[in-house]
Amino acid sequence: TWQQEIAWREFYQHAMYNFPELADGPYRQAFKDFPWENDEKLFQAWCRGKTGYPIIDAAMRQLNQTGWMHNRCRMIVASFLTKDLIINWQWGEKYFMQKLIDGDLSANNGGWQWSASSGMDPKPLRIFNPASQAQKFDPEGEYIRHWVPELRRLDTKLLLTGNISPLERRLLHYPSPIVDHNEQQRKFKELYNQQKNAD
Ligand SMILES: Cc1cc2nc3c(=O)[nH]c(=O)nc-3n(C[C@H](O)[C@H](O)[C@H](O)COP(=O)(O)OP(=O)(O)OC[C@H]3O[C@@H](n4cnc5c(N)ncnc54)[C@H](O)[C@@H]3O)c2cc1C
Repeated sequence: TWQQEIAWREFYQHAMYNFPELADGPYRQAFKDFPWENDEKLFQAWCRGKTGYPIIDAAMRQLNQTGWMHNRCRMIVASFLTKDLIINWQWGEKYFMQKLIDGDLSANNGGWQWSASSGMDPKPLRIFNPASQAQKFDPEGEYIRHWVPELRRLDTKLLLTGNISPLERRLLHYPSPIVDHNEQQRKFKELYNQQKNAD
């Protein structure tokens, strides 16, 4: 696995060296005009770890407090920003560069383009479901409890699925989900298919 990760780093460095224009925009031409919605309020909620999706908020708060986030979480929050919030990946790329202690032009750009489906990936359309990612990679909810302490006493199933009632959210001072994952996923796929045909 470690060798594979090193290979990713090499790959992204070579990609940036040979296609320096990647630093300024998408690899796939059809993505140049992608109709991102770029809602500033949603972006701020994502940056601050206040989206109402526990795994997203845990990861963003870890980034804000420590300058680091595990690769799995980088993929989850990047998918959420681009596919759920329909915000240009370059906003996320810039935010990561401001916060990451290991911020690196080529690895960061490659990771974001991979997540946004605008890059060199042969299987481009991936949409991560925050609940299933949390269930798979944080099965006891320890990571979420650490970074989102207001949820620490919540039942693990509710914590991972995010099925927290509006009343409970109010009592815990935890925000309601800022978007509906299923609805946004449908919307993104429609936009993606229209755009892909122009590729
Ligand atoms: C959206 C997004 C943004 C990212 N931004 C950066 C960044 O700014 N700087 C950065 O170094 N990495 C970035 N990565 C890649 C990866 O997340 C980090 O390199 C990894 O988390 C580092 O953890 P580690 O040192 O424990 O590496 P390990 O997992 O132990 O891997 C060993 C080394 O391989 C390299 N590496 C591992 N995974 C990747 C990967 N997916 N892509 C490229 N190189 C990798 C790193 O140099 C790392 O130190 C990003 C990934 C995504 C999805």
